[in-house]
Amino acid sequence: MSTRLPIEINPYRLVEQRRILTGQLSLKRLSRIQELASAETGEVFVELEFTETDTGLPTVKGKVKGSVPLQCQRCLESFDYSVDSDVEVILLKSDAEAERLQESHDTWLVEDNTIFLQDFIEDELLLSLPVIARHKNCDLDEAARAVSFDIEVEKEKQKDENENPFAALKGAFKSDES
Ligand SMILES: [Zn+2]
Repeated sequence: MSTRLPIEINPYRLVEQRRILTGQLSLKRLSRIQELASAETGEVFVELEFTETDTGLPTVKGKVKGSVPLQCQRCLESFDYSVDSDVEVILLKSDAEAERLQESHDTWLVEDNTIFLQDFIEDELLLSLPVIARHKNCDLDEAARAVSFDIEVEKEKQKDENENPFAALKGAFKSDES
């Protein structure tokens, strides 16, 4: 099943109508995601409910789900990072409102009563991506642990040898004296 999402919406009208939009979006169309992604493949599924908070503020609630191909910064292999993120964003008409609400809420500044849905979804997606992408259990970590153990052992050995380079020599003198 594939549902196309509208390109732009009037969120306030959707709030009035208490609409829920569901659909999917190809990652190919999200240029900022493409800058981070290791491949062009992948899709996100969204469900966005246009409603009001208890205090009557227009808000979008829902979910963004999918997987984004990223390059593991440890082993440089590509892997699918799964995203399953809850959305709850208060819609604002002015920056003044934003200042008041931003501390306690995620907000979105709506200009000309319009949201480009793609931008909105891409922002949500970007927020849920890791700062540094890496496998949850990267094979290289195992390898690195083994290597760093070897290095430690090697360092210890060298330390022993460096600590008293004349130790062996001294021993030799001693045996001469006796
Ligand atoms: Zn990795």
